[in-house]
Amino acid sequence: MANSLIPRHRLEYIDLKLKELISRYDIVKWPVDCIELLIRMKEKGDPPVRLVSTRSLEDDADACTIYIKDEGYIVKFNRNRFRYPFVTSSDRRTNFTAAHEIGHIALEHLVIPARLKSRLESRMEELEADEFAARLLMPDRLIFTCNYHAFAATAAYMKVSRAALRRRLKNMGRTDLVRSCGKRCCFTCGNTGFSAFARFCCICGEAIDGSKRGIRRVVYPAMIPQDRYKRALACPKCGTALEHNKSERCSICGTYVFNYCSGYFEPGGDGCAHANPGNARYCEMCGRKTYYHRESFL
Ligand SMILES: [Zn+2]
Ligand SMILES: [Zn+2]
Ligand SMILES: [Zn+2]
Ligand SMILES: [Zn+2]
Repeated sequence: MANSLIPRHRLEYIDLKLKELISRYDIVKWPVDCIELLIRMKEKGDPPVRLVSTRSLEDDADACTIYIKDEGYIVKFNRNRFRYPFVTSSDRRTNFTAAHEIGHIALEHLVIPARLKSRLESRMEELEADEFAARLLMPDRLIFTCNYHAFAATAAYMKVSRAALRRRLKNMGRTDLVRSCGKRCCFTCGNTGFSAFARFCCICGEAIDGSKRGIRRVVYPAMIPQDRYKRALACPKCGTALEHNKSERCSICGTYVFNYCSGYFEPGGDGCAHANPGNARYCEMCGRKTYYHRESFL
């Protein structure tokens, strides 16, 4: 489900033009800063783009773009409303505005002069540019991997205003994401796999601070499958099946079958002998490296 006012074939056109833009300007990292992107478009000059900051814009709009044959595009920003770099939620509106103007350019709305268009056509172009901007700044894969428990922080992370993020979720028919994301996730790496008693993130080793809520949600696969007693199903070193092995070490190569905290092996250590999950690089209880990590099994 998407913006239901835009016909399906136009939504497909938006996706196509978005893909072209992403590959043409080599956008590989999100979030996207559309002021930087406009500067890159200006430098590339194909089509020619000029950026202007002005005090006089019709209807006190945030920005507008015009097209002049043989000259190219002129993107005008309202100096009174333009604040960059973005700090507050309302500053980040400018990022959406810039993405919207990029949308008009990419979708080639401006090649035909406004006076030749009906009100309805112009209205539809505005909706399309908004949809283009939303898909550029908040692509599905970003939307589906964020934690909306931290709604304001998530909007800041995506470099959009809270209102823009809310609208995007509504247009996607996915406001349920905001309600359903109560899951803990690591502020640093986005890991969502925690034991109930974990005090450290087992992927990045950062202390879990209850007051900091993570933004990204990342599922780190169980690299070394274990049974419910946290014994590896097969030896992580030599691959021998361990189902009948009652010892804590592989009978063939001597590797430990548990992903122990490395504190377990420290002479005179504090005796942390916690057995960690199969994907843990760091001990959930004390943050030290795990045995699997130390032995480079992960
Ligand atoms: Zn517009
Ligand atoms: Zn982490
Ligand atoms: Zn072995
Ligand atoms: Zn430990």
